[in-house]
Amino acid sequence: MRPLIATIDLEHLRHNYRLLKKAHGGRLLAVVKADAYGHGAVACAAALSEADGFAVAYLDEARELRAAGIAQPIVLLEGVFEAAEYAECDRLQLSPVVQNALQLRDFLAHTWHAPVTPWLKLDSGMRRAGFLPHELAAAHHALSTANHVREVVKITHFACADEPSSEMTARQLACFDQCCQALSGAESLANSAAMLAHPAARRDWGRGGIALYGVSPFENNTADLSPEAQALSGSLKAVMTLRTRVFGVRELAAGESIGYGAIFRAPRAMRVGLIACGYADGYPRVPSNDNPVLIDGVPSRVIGRVSMDMMTVELPRAEHGIGSVVELWGENISVAAIARRSGTISYEVLCHLKRAHKDYRAAEQSLSNQPQ
Ligand SMILES: *Cc1c(COP(=O)(O)O)cnc(C)c1O
Repeated sequence: MRPLIATIDLEHLRHNYRLLKKAHGGRLLAVVKADAYGHGAVACAAALSEADGFAVAYLDEARELRAAGIAQPIVLLEGVFEAAEYAECDRLQLSPVVQNALQLRDFLAHTWHAPVTPWLKLDSGMRRAGFLPHELAAAHHALSTANHVREVVKITHFACADEPSSEMTARQLACFDQCCQALSGAESLANSAAMLAHPAARRDWGRGGIALYGVSPFENNTADLSPEAQALSGSLKAVMTLRTRVFGVRELAAGESIGYGAIFRAPRAMRVGLIACGYADGYPRVPSNDNPVLIDGVPSRVIGRVSMDMMTVELPRAEHGIGSVVELWGENISVAAIARRSGTISYEVLCHLKRAHKDYRAAEQSLSNQPQ
């Protein structure tokens, strides 16, 4: 077997879920869109039997969860893309976000058979999706008086919750409260960053994504964090650790180059390990790479260009060789550091993971740990 293995610690996933839910209060949707940010949606949802509900982006992602026997509420964050999808929402008992006039029209035209909870989205300032402040009350009235509507949950999304010093979040909160105060139904404002850093955004339903996977949403903004937010993000546990093994060794003489473009030139004689992971696996390819790695527990770095299926790392110790274990990110190497050096964010790095074998841990242990 190719030794690229993403170990997914489901006990850490549950730890993060409980931490977020306790911080937020109320109920918490576990956001498992994009295959649970690369962690495997079905396995993660199944491990979160305690979750109040799940959120996915669109219908196919929800279908996959229902087919696997996941019975909790599921919210479609983008809502539906065509009218016919409401029949499927009805059948699978999904909660669609309604964020524009077309989705509203088709929702009202559908004859619902089962009770349904639409999530009505307000554009409180992100300007990407949602009803405008002056449109919200009419949409809320139409939905809440429709047949079989159990409740209308009011939802909005923050543009800058991960920048604690930005004034945007306070403006969006004020807009939401002004528009929604007279409208019935539960409220959902907070993504991971808002849940951790903006207590005023903690309402009835949190929506936790990145932090659920143990990754802090405050990659570049830790300086402005409140002590509470700092403590909470510091208590998250990385769910995924991506590891591979050295399967080839080379001795480079001083001045020799290695890999595509011959961009790395050995400053002295050095030993290099070839490892099974490349950009086709989702590892970011950047022009000049010296990303950190851990080799049998010893800090080292990527050298040369990342290829499609392979890359090369410096072997810092004589005992490193074929079979040495290389951590690419996770427990010790933060995925945020890899993302930052690659000009992107940890969300993208995690979502791009492909081809790695997923090894789920703690499933059995935790079952036996459940109270009888
Ligand atoms: C993806 C998403 C979330 C989760 O965001 P995180 O930053 O990963 O916690 C929450 N709400 C909406 C509407 C989303 O699309």
